Amino acid sequence: MLSFTDARRKVIEVVRGLSRNPVSQSVALNAALGRILAEPVIADRDYPPFDRATRDGYAARAADLKEPGASLALVGEIRAGQGYAGKVGPGQCVQIMTGAAVPERTDAVVMIEHTRIEDSSGQTRIIFEREAQAGQNIVPRGKEARAGQTLLEVGARLGYVELSLAAQVGCTRPEVWVRPRVAILSTGDEIVDADKAAGPLQVRNGNSFSLAAQVESAGGEPVLQGNAPDIAKELLGKIKQGLNCNALIISGGVSAGKYDLVEQVLADLGTQFFFDGVAIRPGRPAVFGQCGGVPIFGLPGNPVSTMITFELFVLPALDILCGSAPRPLPLLRAKLGSPLREKPDLAHFLPARLEWTAGEPVVNPVRWQGSGDVVALASTNCFLVVREEKLNWESGEWIDVLPRRGAL
Ligand code: AMP
Ligand code: MG
Repeated sequence: MLSFTDARRKVIEVVRGLSRNPVSQSVALNAALGRILAEPVIADRDYPPFDRATRDGYAARAADLKEPGASLALVGEIRAGQGYAGKVGPGQCVQIMTGAAVPERTDAVVMIEHTRIEDSSGQTRIIFEREAQAGQNIVPRGKEARAGQTLLEVGARLGYVELSLAAQVGCTRPEVWVRPRVAILSTGDEIVDADKAAGPLQVRNGNSFSLAAQVESAGGEPVLQGNAPDIAKELLGKIKQGLNCNALIISGGVSAGKYDLVEQVLADLGTQFFFDGVAIRPGRPAVFGQCGGVPIFGLPGNPVSTMITFELFVLPALDILCGSAPRPLPLLRAKLGSPLREKPDLAHFLPARLEWTAGEPVVNPVRWQGSGDVVALASTNCFLVVREEKLNWESGEWIDVLPRRGAL
């Protein structure tokens, strides 16, 4: 059985080899969060477009400020967004605001905190308490980027930083890849829609909701197929439908039970399997294959298993299908708050809570009743990662933590 890192590697290798929907569209910037660029974002002019003051203070010539205590005549002020019409001569300075254009013939900005005003004989003079260097507190025009320079490459994910950057260079309708359509199929005789009355032995479909949210936040477009009972013919019909999408995620029906029919139905359709088990708990029965070029994930139906296997294996695949590079697992390290003893041969992803205690990140597993226990999971913000190589941990040791996306 593959380790989770090898299984991820396999997913990435296979999905990179499949063809991707190469259609792009332009979208309004305020609707572009999470989208992937299909065309670069380019600087429309130099950045900054003028020599920019980075402090509130006075613009002057460094040559006039070689010694502490220099006194210069104040000849005007420059507000952000305005230029300075006059000329600043030797022995003179102008008051300047953060973000304003530094006037010609000056080459230093001195923080207001390092000056004092001397108002004698009707003329305002500024006393500079320190010497100044040419260039201080100024970002010269073009220092951040040159006009025509690529600022965001094809494949970049538009997060809040990128959206601000695109807006600042006037790119208000970026060209992005059309989102991959991802079919989501829940399976199980016992599963009913969440808005239906559940009989005493029935289970409401939570997985379609978690999966749709995970797909959406990963940059895909969820296509909800509802639930199929554990009947081969019905599964076949739904799976065939799902294969019209760019990827298919199935929850449930991949374990060893008599009515776990998903793998058989996939095999009948000619699916090529790359793994049908990963050495992890929860999530061990996870299946990955492709049929007609469509990647298929069969995730175990216990909700915590479904969620964690999505994060480990489906997310990197969706990154690629979205047109970006697969994101690495965002592992952190934290101090373990209590000892751990885990069973061999598997990596464990234990629902846990990360908190800052006495200036350090401390992680504690929460009590849970196994991979069906979403109640416990809702009180967590991360998974503790216990690898096969080291199963016994003492309190105070530094251990890997996988943040829960959106919770940390
Ligand atoms: P399975 O992987 O089909 O053996 O299902 C394992 C457990 O997960 C069973 O207890 C199911 O009732 C539960 N389960 C399966 N699918 C869902 C779902 N869509 N929503 C909530 N629980 C589910
Ligand atoms: Mg089932």
